[in-house]
Formats: sequence, C-alpha cells, structure tokens
Amino acid sequence: MYRKELLAMLLGDPLTVKEISRSVGQKETTTVDDLKHLFKTVKHQGYKVIIESALCKKCAFEFDATKLNKPSRCPACRSSWVTEPRIKVAPYPDRGVLVRSGDRSNLNTIDHPI
Ligand SMILES: [Zn+2]
Repeated sequence: MYRKELLAMLLGDPLTVKEISRSVGQKETTTVDDLKHLFKTVKHQGYKVIIESALCKKCAFEFDATKLNKPSRCPACRSSWVTEPRIKVAPYPDRGVLVRSGDRSNLNTIDHPI
C-alpha cells in the first residue's frame, strides 16, 4: 500500500496491525514492513509514532513497544489473554524528544523505533 495512505489512516484513532491489514486487504507481515518503513520516514516530516504496547490482561506485563504484532503468550505468566498493540501517528514539531505519558504507563512515544 502507499505510504501516504497508511499515514492518513494512522493520523486517526490508534489501529492494530490486524485492523490496518483487514481494511486494505493485505497480509499482516506486509503491513508490519510498511509500518517500519513509514516510521523511519515520518520522523523527518514532523510526526511522532505512538505505540500502545501490548499488555497482559492477567498479570499486567507490558510488552516491548517495538513489537507491532499481537504477542501469542505472556512471558511472565504464560497467559494468552493479551491485548494487541495499537499504533498511531501524530504531528509533532519537537521531534527527537522521548515522551512517556504519566496517565498511561504503557503509552510510549518512540523517536527511532525498530
Ligand atoms: Zn501475564
């Protein structure tokens, strides 16, 4: 898919890889490749990438925010009750600054992901 199209989608509500793949009709692995490529370019265009990490709903284990796909199992408690990471892009003139939200500990802003 076109990167411009992907960027437009991500400027709205946070989306999962599955949701993006379904709406454009492509494989999830292709979407992950598209996203990684997009992340490398958008930071030079005044955008920041916001990834809500996957979270274990059983023990609250927080997964690495650079993982874009839904993890199959929690490494801490082996539960498969795990949320899917959600991805969003927002305009951000002060790129290069890492922000961690105080309200949501699992909301990470990644300056140079993956
Ligand atoms: Zn767990």
